Amino acid sequence: MGKTDSNKPILVVGGGISGVTAAVELAEAGREVILIEKQAYLGGNVIKMNSYFPKLCPPSCGLEINFRRIRQNPRIKYYTSSTVEGISGEKGNFSVRIKTSAQYVKNNCTVCGDCVSVCPVERMDEFNYNLSKTKAIYLPHEMAFPMKFTIDNEYCKKESCNKCVEVCTYNAIDFSVEEKENVLDVQSVIFATGWHNYDASKLDNLNYLSSENILTNVEFERLLAPNGPTEGKLLKPSDQSVPGEVVFVQCAGSRDENHLPYCSAVCCSASLKHALTIREKLPDCKVKIFYIDLRVSGRNEDFLNKVKQEKNIELIKGKVGKVELNHENNKLVVEAEDIQNGIKLKHETDMVVLATGIEPHNLPLDINTNSWGFLANGQEKGLVAVSCSKKPMDVSSSVKDATAAALKAIQ
Ligand SMILES: Cc1cc2nc3c(=O)[nH]c(=O)nc-3n(C[C@H](O)[C@H](O)[C@H](O)COP(=O)(O)OP(=O)(O)OC[C@H]3O[C@@H](n4cnc5c(N)ncnc54)[C@H](O)[C@@H]3O)c2cc1C
Repeated sequence: MGKTDSNKPILVVGGGISGVTAAVELAEAGREVILIEKQAYLGGNVIKMNSYFPKLCPPSCGLEINFRRIRQNPRIKYYTSSTVEGISGEKGNFSVRIKTSAQYVKNNCTVCGDCVSVCPVERMDEFNYNLSKTKAIYLPHEMAFPMKFTIDNEYCKKESCNKCVEVCTYNAIDFSVEEKENVLDVQSVIFATGWHNYDASKLDNLNYLSSENILTNVEFERLLAPNGPTEGKLLKPSDQSVPGEVVFVQCAGSRDENHLPYCSAVCCSASLKHALTIREKLPDCKVKIFYIDLRVSGRNEDFLNKVKQEKNIELIKGKVGKVELNHENNKLVVEAEDIQNGIKLKHETDMVVLATGIEPHNLPLDINTNSWGFLANGQEKGLVAVSCSKKPMDVSSSVKDATAAALKAIQ
């Protein structure tokens, strides 16, 4: 006898804070859940943060408890390094094709690190937005869930090297494993596929690629993080010296018809958070934030008030037109309007942070999107979009939206 609608599993695509929340809520309401994540670890963009507003807690706060709930709940099956390749069927009865890349490291990995010490190949560390390197076999980060090493299939020389296999006393590495495809029969699908940062190299006038000292906001978040490329020390990437000043460029590509026509809702609060973190780490470092409008909501208004009282942080209303490298002294020249004082500025600084916005992930599936690429809710069809896959949102709104999505998916 086939499964009835209500005892078929519900599929959650995307293992960020929204997907993890939806999965846990569904399982604790008694439903079988399958959670699919394309990275080797759960946690999405939040796990990469130094801290998150409004309370400025570390990412472990919130995620760790959810990882424990996943570990303890047999109703949740999760597949990392996996993507959805196709969906067919209709509400109550979907057939979903899932591809999981070859998992050379088995679950009995103890994270001892012997394999890393013998691995001869290096790769750029995408967890740190390429600001550092790891070996081809690596732990994605120290809070990784699942907690095991992973292998970059593109860089690893596999059997022709075999050093990691030889050194592993637990026989936890097996290069004969192959990519897998599974077909799942599910009742409904929650898309919690989130966002990626807008490509700053498309912003010609801001010359992102001209200097290592021009960073995006997500790169800057890693630079501040204790588990980041500088262990949380704020240093100029070009020469590892301490910056005397950092300039933030708000709406870098956002609210701009040539790039992202919409407001990403979180970039102003993120830059205020970054400015306050700089004050903590380097009290003498000056900060200038150039903005068009400061859009902060709810408790983040407190940030704005706090920032306004800081003598080393200046808020300047005006759009930055250009950022350029001065090759003579390696400083960055920021050209902007200062609307309130009616002047055009040409200002030299040490570091520039581009507050680039949130862009939704493209899914290779036949699902309705709006003109900006965000998923349109197809609840009546059994397809539920949640949080940043639908529109830009902060973490607390994402968690609420994910809880609501769980209920919609059950219904
Ligand atoms: C610079 C910056 C700073 C921020 N700081 C804060 C802050 O301090 N406080 C705050 O509240 N909010 C902050 N935010 C917003 C916060 O990042 C989001 O609210 C949060 O990431 C939303 O979580 P999510 O799970 O919806 O998406 P994500 O975190 O993007 O997670 C989505 C997951 O889905 C996976 N995925 C994508 N496509 C697929 C696929 N096809 N198959 C399988 N898996 C897939 C991704 O790999 C990812 O793991 C900030 C945003 C930015 C840009």
